[in-house]
Amino acid sequence: NREWHLLSRPVGVPKPEDFALVEAETREPGAGEVLVRNAYLSVDPYMRGRMSDAKSYVAPFELGKVMQGGAVGEVLKSNAEGIAPGDHVLHFGGWREYATVDAKQAVKVDPAAAPLSAYLGVLGMTGLTAYAGLLRTASFKEGDSVFVSGAAGAVGSQVGQIARLKGASRVIGSAGSDEKVALLVDEYGFDAAFNYRKEPVSRQLRAAAPDGVDVYFDNVGGDHLEAAIGSLNQGGRIAVCGMISVYNNTEATPGPRNLARLIQTRGRIEGFLVGDHYDLQPQFVAEVGAWIRSGELKYRETVVEGIENNLEAFLGVLRGDNTGKMIVKL
Ligand code: NDP
Repeated sequence: NREWHLLSRPVGVPKPEDFALVEAETREPGAGEVLVRNAYLSVDPYMRGRMSDAKSYVAPFELGKVMQGGAVGEVLKSNAEGIAPGDHVLHFGGWREYATVDAKQAVKVDPAAAPLSAYLGVLGMTGLTAYAGLLRTASFKEGDSVFVSGAAGAVGSQVGQIARLKGASRVIGSAGSDEKVALLVDEYGFDAAFNYRKEPVSRQLRAAAPDGVDVYFDNVGGDHLEAAIGSLNQGGRIAVCGMISVYNNTEATPGPRNLARLIQTRGRIEGFLVGDHYDLQPQFVAEVGAWIRSGELKYRETVVEGIENNLEAFLGVLRGDNTGKMIVKL
């Protein structure tokens, strides 16, 4: 059983020396526990936050111990009611090959209903983030014009498509390469998209959304957020989901310089955490599941193979190596 430990708290961009892949014992499951052989592991931007010890909404990873993360796998042994060997579960014992977990923290998933990896992405945490952030936090309504950053990523690609399927008047996305920009328009049906690395975001956004935006779904922060405030319409809403452009920063970044525009536009900015919105899960799975089956909502995954590449996969998410959800397959 190999597992990834955090050895030191990264400063700036995490370096391989901050981590180690180590051999560990597989613990026999106790009462109420199950032993799982992980099949797919999730690597997510929020994990960067847990590598630092700044106060946050989740406890930091402990140094010298295995890190955690979303995972799906097959139950090998079970001492828990309702879960049997051969069942598949979604749980939080990622960054390792085998996990002994409390069955209360594990959810049974059906490999016949969807590919197992989907429970980490399009039908899992990142999908619900898109759904809840757009529909609840940003109070999306039919006819809204929607801008989403990180639009070729797991959350962003779903935000844009849900907005389109729910009757947005215009869907605009930004991403970090021309290939990703083409995918947004050609495959996901965005009305306009731009490569944020090419020209200032504010200028590109004004060109892509000449009539302004009613909703901005922020995955990036920084100049994207400032540009969105600049293009916000009357009564516009900004859902702050993530700010990946600042996660590796070592100093506090200046906020948007144009916040005063919110007065004029009566605009609203609101942050949210997916963990507060699991009551929407059944509705989300029913609605998005149907769109996937009908082909109206498309998704991609970037799959990296092998536990030894788990760290590289995580670092790749911060660099933008992924299109859609980054998944590690064991
Ligand atoms: P993604 O699949 O979107 O992967 C991250 C992407 O961010 C990369 O592919 C890269 O794409 C982009 N990126 C990296 N650096 C920058 C930068 N400096 N400027 C602009 N884009 C950058 O990840 P997720 O879909 O899992 O997460 C998206 C966002 O949602 C993150 O900010 C994450 O923290 C947040 N999140 C928040 C949750 C919540 O509960 N609030 C829950 C889940 C996620 P590119 O090539 O386009 O640069």
